[in-house]
Amino acid sequence: MNTKAMYKLSYGLFVCTAVQGAKMNGCITNTAMQVASEPNRISIAINKANYTHDMVKETGACNISVLSKDASFDIFKHFGFQSGRDVDKFAPELLKDIAYKLADNGIPYITTGTSAYFSLKVDQEVDLGSHTLFICEPTAMEVLSDTPSCTYEYYQNEIKPKPEKVGTTVKGEPVWRCTICGYEYVGEDLPDDFICPICKHGKEDFEKLVR
Ligand code: FE
Repeated sequence: MNTKAMYKLSYGLFVCTAVQGAKMNGCITNTAMQVASEPNRISIAINKANYTHDMVKETGACNISVLSKDASFDIFKHFGFQSGRDVDKFAPELLKDIAYKLADNGIPYITTGTSAYFSLKVDQEVDLGSHTLFICEPTAMEVLSDTPSCTYEYYQNEIKPKPEKVGTTVKGEPVWRCTICGYEYVGEDLPDDFICPICKHGKEDFEKLVR
């Protein structure tokens, strides 16, 4: 079995936002898609470790903003590389140039670097272990720009900065590179419980390189 086949699947990239009480939050996901047309259904799988996951589960609603090729790395960093448990992602001093508006459902959608948004109401939930699959009814949707949408491949090749070297390596010393953000760990073995300090992904998202 060649697990590299997993990399041949194509994905879009999205900001999933939710509101619970006074808290507005959002995360990056690659799993939004239309899964039925009659009735129209959009599914989104969210990792249970994300604070946004709990907010969607408890409120039964979210918005999906479709990232376009205009999206800067800052948007991915802002929504993807920090947790809403630790920071207020909608604090103006943290959002800086990232603009948003409130949809009719009271949930923000991102207007910077995006091509469309959807307001979703959760219709069904499927527990998938690491993730919950939310199958949703779209209650609103608008086109925001004609810029082509950003695929995961485009993000990897064109938006994500080339990896920064962490520490100095002598020739032949193995490096473990995070395939999500490019962080590099130097050493023969990466501990099984290692969590990337930049993007918080685990060992399964690291690849071992020998230079
Ligand atoms: Fe990482």
